[in-house]
Amino acid sequence: MTPGELKALIRTVPDFPAPGIAFRDITTLIAHGPGFAATIDHMAEAARLSGAVAVAGIEARGFLFGAAIAARLGLGFVPLRKAGKLPVATLGIDYALEYGSARLELDPTLVDPGEPILLVDDLIATGGTALAGAELLRQAGARVDHALFVIDLPDLGGAGKLRAAGIAPWALFD
Ligand code: IMP
Repeated sequence: MTPGELKALIRTVPDFPAPGIAFRDITTLIAHGPGFAATIDHMAEAARLSGAVAVAGIEARGFLFGAAIAARLGLGFVPLRKAGKLPVATLGIDYALEYGSARLELDPTLVDPGEPILLVDDLIATGGTALAGAELLRQAGARVDHALFVIDLPDLGGAGKLRAAGIAPWALFD
């Protein structure tokens, strides 16, 4: 399936989670067997070209795509978790959301110093979440040169912020 055909499997839900927001819902894409498989095919090829030796996914939807890509390529998967979930000592980063703030945490022993890690999430909007994830991985000693997304919302400028931080963004469609 082409990226255009995969885009057609995304459901847009008006006024969620707040009035005026058009939420891109990927559950209709992952519930479609051939669509989910083709999404992972496209993303795994981009991941392979990135040269990364491991994949980090952002909880929760980044796990769905990141783990599938890692397994397809035989790479390890590193979870970037929401606050308070990991049972071990963690590195953490707080970051601002449009409304409020959030925190991501990482077990730094999962990262080898200097190893190139690919960041994966379902969607990039303002880029705040992906930048926080990349910063956390870098604090743990990883190199983060590439980030993959299913969807880019280009009007929100996130891809440009990643480029300014030395990270090449790639998205299946916008
Ligand atoms: P950003 O930090 O503004 O780039 O927002 C991206 C983060 O918010 C990602 O972790 C997404 O999963 C989530 N997100 C923002 N908007 C949407 C949406 O429309 N659909 C699905 N996830 C979204």
